[in-house]
Formats: sequence, structure tokens, C-alpha cells
Amino acid sequence: MANTNISSFSQRRATLVQYANLLLMLAVFVFVILRLVTLGFDRPPIPAALVFVLTVCNFLYVHFRGSPIIASWLLLAVMALGLVSSGINTGGFAGPTVLMAPMLPVLALLLIGTRAGLIACAVVILILSVLFVAEVNGLISPNPQSEEAQLVTRFIALLATVLVCSLVAWEFARMNHAMLGVMSGQALTDHLTGLKNRRALEESMAKELRRARRSNGWVSLIICDVDHFKHYNDFHGHSAGDTCLIAVANVLKAAARRPHDLVCRYGGEEFVPLLPDTRPNGAYRVAEAMRAGLESQKIPYRDQDSDCVTLTLGVVSVAGADIDDMESLLDTADQALYAGKEEGRNRVIEVNLSEGAVVADVSARP
Ligand code: GH3
Ligand code: MG
Ligand code: MG
Repeated sequence: MANTNISSFSQRRATLVQYANLLLMLAVFVFVILRLVTLGFDRPPIPAALVFVLTVCNFLYVHFRGSPIIASWLLLAVMALGLVSSGINTGGFAGPTVLMAPMLPVLALLLIGTRAGLIACAVVILILSVLFVAEVNGLISPNPQSEEAQLVTRFIALLATVLVCSLVAWEFARMNHAMLGVMSGQALTDHLTGLKNRRALEESMAKELRRARRSNGWVSLIICDVDHFKHYNDFHGHSAGDTCLIAVANVLKAAARRPHDLVCRYGGEEFVPLLPDTRPNGAYRVAEAMRAGLESQKIPYRDQDSDCVTLTLGVVSVAGADIDDMESLLDTADQALYAGKEEGRNRVIEVNLSEGAVVADVSARP
């Protein structure tokens, strides 16, 4: 899935810094113009103009493939500078730009990390405290702009804060959502074979057993175990053993073709195909197709003249009211498997727990 891992976020970080720079640049530009229009060139807003130039440089730096982390730090430093100078020059807490203060820790946290977030938080608290003490002691002169101009600047400052914070938080939430999706998929998947794992089987089985009880339908389950797999592993090595398990998984998947069939890796060299709405004869046919399918792959235990890797399968089918709990169904299939091993392996042993039961025709699922 595209754009769903942590590295893709660091790629997106460059774009986010670009957008944050752009929004800040626009906000400061409007502020500078407004100030020049209302107060003329007698009192040019030098610090704001400097912030504007630095933001443009930072924008160009990221544009020409500069480091997004350095650009993020630079952005935060420029914003801190803007906070100090505008706090002093635009009337302290009565001025508009202190409204942008919360943006700093939020940006630092989301763009760089927790430590940067804490540093930014401490710096902002320090700047605001110094401004507060200075204002209480009458060291900050009132904003020379008209009320209307201040109102517009306040509006722009708030707008920029909302936009920048929302932009970065939105991207972060989106990534988080996508990563959670990927991780929950991984938690239910066996990473060697790509089949569903035991946890997924348990979840699906609980659902399917409930459904079969409700609709008085059949459920079948197979436990497949690779015969003498230890010999194969001992002779060919563990990584060849893994490749063999992938081949087994492919054979099982090819045999269980219905959309609701679920083939899981139960653990080690054991696999459990769950076959909802499947009668005993159908389950037997699927199990036999699995057994024959692996046999036809002719994967030798040793050299070309030796025996080939085979499967023993225990099949259990049960219907409607006869359905007990998940564990007893697995136990029954396991006993059938064990019987197959005892009888010489490479075979299918089936158990019908609802012999003679009158059950619904469930060839078509609801
Ligand atoms: P049986 O016919 O009675 O089932 O004999 P077996 O040798 O298959 O059974 P046993 O339980 O003695 O050995 C299972 C072997 O499967 C042992 C272990 O090395 C191997 N195995 C389990 N999981 C993996 C795995 O993920 N990769 C590989 N390569 N081997 C595995
Ligand atoms: Mg085993
Ligand atoms: Mg085995």
C-alpha cells in the first residue's frame, strides 16, 4: 500500500514544511503590506520583513531538496524570532501574533519528534513569560496600528495557525490510520506464507460456527500436517524448509477455491483450511485435492530417487445443533489427523459429527 509507512511520512515531511512555509510566508507578507499601508515607510516592519525573507529562503531550500529536518528546525527558529519581535513591536499580548504561539510546539512535535516538541514548548513558554513580565512592567509600547488593521492582522494570524496546524495534523492522522490498517492486517497474517494466521482462524471460526448454528448449516474443517517435515528440514536446511512450506501453502490455497474458504497456517508445518457451508463429501474432496496436489509437486525429501513430501489430513464436518465449541472441533480434526499418521501418513481421515442429520441446504450462502 502506498504512503503507509514511516519512511513515506518522512518523504511527505518535505511537502508539509513547504506548505507550512508558504502559509507563513503569505501571512507575514499580508502583515507587512498592511503595516506599510497603514503606517507608511516611516516605521517599516524590519523584523517581519526579515521573517518573510527567511521563510522564502527556507521554502527555496526545501524546494531544491534540502533536508526536511533542517528546514523544519529553521521554520521553528524563524517562527520563534517572529514571536519575539512581533510580541515587542505589536503591543505584546494585545497584539495579533502571539496567537500563533501554539503553532510552534505542534509543528515541532509532528514534523520532528517528541524531543523537538518539548524544546519548542519550553522556548514558547519562556518567550511568553518574558513578554508577560515586560508588559506588566510597562516595557512594551502599544501597537501603533489602527484597531481595524490590528483586527485584520489578528484574523490572518489565527487563520494561518488553524491552517498550518490542521494541515500537519491531518497528514499525521491520515498516516496513522493507514498504518493501523497495515498493522492490523499484519497481525492476522502469517508473514512466511501470506496465509491468515491462527488468530485470524479463531476469529473467523467463531463467526462461522455462530452462523452455521443459526442457519442449521454445515461447517467443515481440515487439519493438514506435512509428513516427516523434520527430515526435509534436516536434509535441506531451514530456509529450503521455508520454501517448501510456501509451496504447501500454495497447494492448499489452490484446492480451497470458494470465496469463503479460509486457509490458515496454524503453526509450524500445520495448516487449517476452514470450509464454511461445506458438507462432508465436499470437504473430503477438498482435502483429497490438497493431498494429491502436494504429492504431484514431487518435492523430494532427499535426492531425486527418494520419497516426496506428503500431507496427512484430518477432516471434521458438523452441522447445526451438533456444533460444539471451536476447541472440540479442532480436537476432533486433530484426532483424525493422528489416526492418519498412525495408519501410515499421506492420507485423508474424515469424521462426520452429524451423521444422518437433517440440515439446511447451504450451497448458496446468505
Ligand atoms: P510427522 O510426519 O509426524 O508430522 O513428522 P514431522 O517431522 O513433520 O513432525 P515434527 O513435529 O517432529 O517436526 C516438525 C518440523 O517442522 C520441526 C521443525 O523443524 C519444522 N518446522 C516448524 N516450523 C517451521 C518453519 O517455520 N520453517 C521451517 N523450515 N521448518 C519448520
Ligand atoms: Mg506437526
Ligand atoms: Mg509433520
